[in-house]
Amino acid sequence: MYREILIPEYLTKFSCIGASCEDTCCAGWKVAVDKTTFQKYRNISKPGIKEELKKYITRERSNPSDFSYGKIKMTENNVCTMLTEDGWCKIQAELGEEFLCHTCSVYPRIVKEVDNRLEKSLTPSCPEAARLMLLNETGINFIIDEEQTKKNILVDAKLDSKEKPHFWELRMFTIEMLQNRKQSLDVRLIVIGMFFQKISEIPIKDWAIQLEPIMTRYKNILNDDEQIQLLLNLPENLSFQMNMAKELLSYRLMGGISSQRYLDCVNDMINSLQLNDETDINDSILLYKRFYAEYYAPFMREHEYILENYAVNYVFKNLFPFDQPNLFESFVMLSVNISIIKLHLIGMAGHHKGLTTELVIKLIQSYAKTIEHDLAYLQNVREMLNESGYSTMAHMIVLLKS
Ligand code: SF4
Repeated sequence: MYREILIPEYLTKFSCIGASCEDTCCAGWKVAVDKTTFQKYRNISKPGIKEELKKYITRERSNPSDFSYGKIKMTENNVCTMLTEDGWCKIQAELGEEFLCHTCSVYPRIVKEVDNRLEKSLTPSCPEAARLMLLNETGINFIIDEEQTKKNILVDAKLDSKEKPHFWELRMFTIEMLQNRKQSLDVRLIVIGMFFQKISEIPIKDWAIQLEPIMTRYKNILNDDEQIQLLLNLPENLSFQMNMAKELLSYRLMGGISSQRYLDCVNDMINSLQLNDETDINDSILLYKRFYAEYYAPFMREHEYILENYAVNYVFKNLFPFDQPNLFESFVMLSVNISIIKLHLIGMAGHHKGLTTELVIKLIQSYAKTIEHDLAYLQNVREMLNESGYSTMAHMIVLLKS
């Protein structure tokens, strides 16, 4: 059956680069096998692959579901056992693409359903996807396409806009604000946060009348240089960034990072900012400021579209602002992800004496693969924000502008 599908334009250009991939999706991840595919594997009679499927694809015993009915074993080096030495998938090579499980056939695509219409995007945890979505200087465009799909297609999440009022207006407003290059991305995010704080104070029943004029007012703030200057004059405070960096340090020490690519980025940051127990935090702050001014800011003056594209893709694929318990928290988590990425990049810039688009892609891709999917880590960050009183707009302004 043919269905209408809303996609970012970059998706039409994506194809997996297979054996040339620098961080194949089969590395470092547990691959869940859905029930239908698992049963198909048990009926394979082709010698060789039949035995391998039996040996390496076993039942999922913890919290099994139709989606996560079996799992593929990983090697000691955390690589999929169904991968050949030259990096190709044995299942696809020997049995054909239709024998891939849901996880492998869909990745790196994220499929959502909004009001019965499908939406598809890519996750930046795939290096090829990250390049396509992030390195587009003119920004991300969205198009409506038509696609042949199965009747009961598995989707990652569904949203009914009758239950989430004004979803379309709020998401479109956020994307429009993020893509307004009149101000820096930090300023755009601050004004978006002020907007969400404002509407969180208004009863939802009044939004039908009040939302439109409030959106217009906040769009206009981006043209008001005097008001922007007042925001930017607020005092800076880098203590949260440093606490976040220390949290990443203990995450590394606890063995939470299995991706070597991400570990390289974290080590560059920790070493260049001297974030170890013996160093005074004020020395790390001075280094952060120096690397920001000497390397990060000049690079970002030319390449801020990379972070803008990351934010726009995040908003689209996560069904923002309904991806967290409340609207303001959705904004906080978007900002925290951007701030963590920025912190890494400033540290990496200090280590490499500058930034390149390759370094930025390496960081965002490996960060997305390691952290964006680690709900426990993000939960820790959220608790840290709450404990230090950072989940207020005043603190978010300080965090974003530092
Ligand atoms: S990470 Fe992306 S490019 Fe690499 S093997 Fe997987 S789908 Fe292909």
